[in-house]
Amino acid sequence: MKITIEEAKTKKMKPQAGTPLGFGKYFTDHMFVREWTIEDGWKDGKIVPYGPIEMDPASMVLHYAQETFEGMKAYRAKDGRILLFRPEMNARRFINSNRRICMSEVPEADFVEAVRALVEYEQDWVPNEEGTSLYIRPFMFASEAAVGVHPAASYKFVIILSPVGAYYPEGVNPVKIYVEDEYVRATKGGTGFTKCGGNYAASIAAQVKAEKMGYTQVLWLDGVERKYVEEVGTMNVMFKIDGEIFTAPCDGTVLPGVTRDSIITMLKDWGYTVKEEHLAIDDLMDAAKNGKLEEAFGTGTAAVISPIGELNYKGEIATINDFKTGDLTQRLYDTLTGIQWGNIEDPYGWVHDITKMK
Ligand SMILES: *Cc1c(COP(=O)(O)O)cnc(C)c1O
Repeated sequence: MKITIEEAKTKKMKPQAGTPLGFGKYFTDHMFVREWTIEDGWKDGKIVPYGPIEMDPASMVLHYAQETFEGMKAYRAKDGRILLFRPEMNARRFINSNRRICMSEVPEADFVEAVRALVEYEQDWVPNEEGTSLYIRPFMFASEAAVGVHPAASYKFVIILSPVGAYYPEGVNPVKIYVEDEYVRATKGGTGFTKCGGNYAASIAAQVKAEKMGYTQVLWLDGVERKYVEEVGTMNVMFKIDGEIFTAPCDGTVLPGVTRDSIITMLKDWGYTVKEEHLAIDDLMDAAKNGKLEEAFGTGTAAVISPIGELNYKGEIATINDFKTGDLTQRLYDTLTGIQWGNIEDPYGWVHDITKMK
């Protein structure tokens, strides 16, 4: 893949040291764009000034939501190196998402190189304060102007970058979770295993409902019986019950998280039994009542790990570990963030210095 560069004529002011970056509020000076058409296939990649994308009102994505995305981060190590974490996992998941909704695929090597090249070009935007990072948002959508439901004849693959603040400026903190027993996120045969925009549009109603009741996120149950636990908000979820770790299997309805996979690898390495099984919400609430539910946490790129301090299922409240972050949860958080920011040795070959990836 050839990448051409058009430098922005004016550069933005970077947020000054100490400015709370938040999440997805600031964007860098450039973005990556690559087009695909049915006639020519993939064209050259382009790094161009960040800015609006011109679209025809009949662009298919605006009507039928043929869109997929990814979420990953670039981390600045203390010695100045810029690190990516398992970018090939995001590349492969993007291929799987695109396949499911009949969009052309970005070859794995091209995806990784596009991310690497854009991050390298924008490297001054990778913040260096503790816990901060550069969020990377690759996405792709149907750009063909046509009204009618069918695979589009043209797509745009775009990557934008956003410097983001520490997720836990005051240390890891547990959240309250509402167990959603009305709305569903995914069913077998659907798109639950993909990061496609439509999944998230459909989830907003449950999020709004939970927030109104004072909860941070929802715990999703399976879409058929509303019986088994699947995910929490936009994170995978894990439970430590009587010393063993339970998490839903990736069999079509759960998003195969890179963080999930990394945590499972670490847990097994540390001698834990990890059960990728369907866990009934009733059994989970019983475990909580019997004092066997020791820890619970969500896993995802944004927060890394989000401990769960309370579950509300049909009005029944389960408090977990006295609403404190569990020891294993904390150890997983410290180890994984240590690897991601290059502060501790990476025994798994997960982090890649962007200058050594070409
Ligand atoms: C992105 C996402 C996750 C977490 O995936 P990571 O690769 O760990 O960031 C989990 N569940 C859903 C629904 C997601 O969208």
